Parts: sequence; C-alpha cells; structure tokens
Amino acid sequence: MSLSLDRPRRPRPTRLALILALLLGFGSLAYLLYTRLSPVATRLVRLRQYWSGPLAHQDWAVHAGERCGEAPFLMPTDGLIGFVWGDSFRPGKVHQGLDIFGPTGPDGLGETPVVAAYDGYLTRLPTWRSALIIRIPQDPLQPERQIWLYYTHMADSSGNSFISPEFPPGTTQAFVPAGALLGHQGNYSGDTDSPVGMHLHFSIVRDDGRGRFLDERDIRNTLDPSPYLGVEVNADRLGDRIPICQP
Ligand SMILES: [Zn+2]
Repeated sequence: MSLSLDRPRRPRPTRLALILALLLGFGSLAYLLYTRLSPVATRLVRLRQYWSGPLAHQDWAVHAGERCGEAPFLMPTDGLIGFVWGDSFRPGKVHQGLDIFGPTGPDGLGETPVVAAYDGYLTRLPTWRSALIIRIPQDPLQPERQIWLYYTHMADSSGNSFISPEFPPGTTQAFVPAGALLGHQGNYSGDTDSPVGMHLHFSIVRDDGRGRFLDERDIRNTLDPSPYLGVEVNADRLGDRIPICQP
C-alpha cells in the first residue's frame, strides 16, 4: 500500500464548489418550502383550536351572507377561513380556493348553511354529488368578462348530498339571487374511504372565453378571491394572519 493512499483526501476546489452549491441550493429550497408551508402549519393549529371551541373564537369567523365593506360578493358560508388561495399543502400543489370550516366542527355535517355569493345562474352536472357552479355573466370587477363560482364538499362522506333539493343533479342555468340558500357544508371528497374535514371549498373560476368554465383544479384557472370578498385571502400577502372581515 502506498503512503499517498493513507493520506486524508483533501477536497479539490471543484468538489468544494459543488458541495457549496448543493448546500446553497438545498438551503434555498428548504427556505422556500418553509415560507410556503409554515403559514399552512399555523393555519392547521388554528383550525384545531377553532374546532375545539368555536364559541371561544367567534372573532375568527366569517358569516354567511355578510358583506365586507364595499365588496361585491357576500360571504358564502359561516366559519373559519382555514386555508386560502395560494396555500401549499405539499410541494407542487397550490390551493386554488378558500376552505371555510363551519362552527359545528367535523361532526356537524349538513348544519352550516352555504349561500350564493352573487346573483348568477346555477349549474350542477349530472354526476356532481357535492358540487355546483354559478355563472356570473359580468364579473363585477371586470364587467367585460364572465366568471364562475365553484362550491364543493356539500355531501356526506358517502356522497349523500346536502345541496338544496331545488338544485338536483342535471340542473342547468337556474337563476339564484345573492344570498339564496344553496345547501350545507359536508365532508365528501369523491373518495368514500377518505373524507375531508367538514368545510366548504369555494373558488372563482375563469371562463374559457367561449362560455365554459376552465378546470378549477389548476390555480391558473382561478382568481384571487380577496377583492371580491373584501378579505385578504391571498397566501402571499396574508402570511399567517387570520382572514376576517374588517369592520
Ligand atoms: Zn379547498
């Protein structure tokens, strides 16, 4: 065995640079994940606190039919806006709407009312158990375009619907005025084995320009609800604060 092999190997400059670059890269990725995920962690803790005593945290809640300031939309349901537009639950997946958790907690299925946020035309596709979508011909903030309001999770874990009986599956373009009762919050996820925690998912969906709504699951097809509701619900601007209607 030669002596040279017994000497400790010194990192060569290129290797050092590579290690440094990796560390820096990892560090910035970790920072990015932290800033994205830490408000969500805070929101999760807050949701548990809210559900363990909704009456003690009434100042955290919004109310169905309430209008915040001069906002064009009414609040679509009661409860804590637990997760907002732009939250990231895991890398690569960005939340494209609001999750509002009713004060009855996870067991109070079908008790928290859901109302129309704005005048529009309600459609419920024949296969939709827990969801409906309302067409608004003139976006109140950009009247030259049409937008859609999507509401979901209004069924129990097996898919028994909590949508008002006047809007059965297959309903097409039924006019509903702002404030009309649409149904109640549920926990249906589409997978009967893993229901969501009871809440309303509400999002504002873009039109394809030819009168059809785009795929709601992609945040690029949705709009920041903040100016429509008069509440800061943009994750980037909200940080870990509580989104509530300011008097
Ligand atoms: Zn959601």
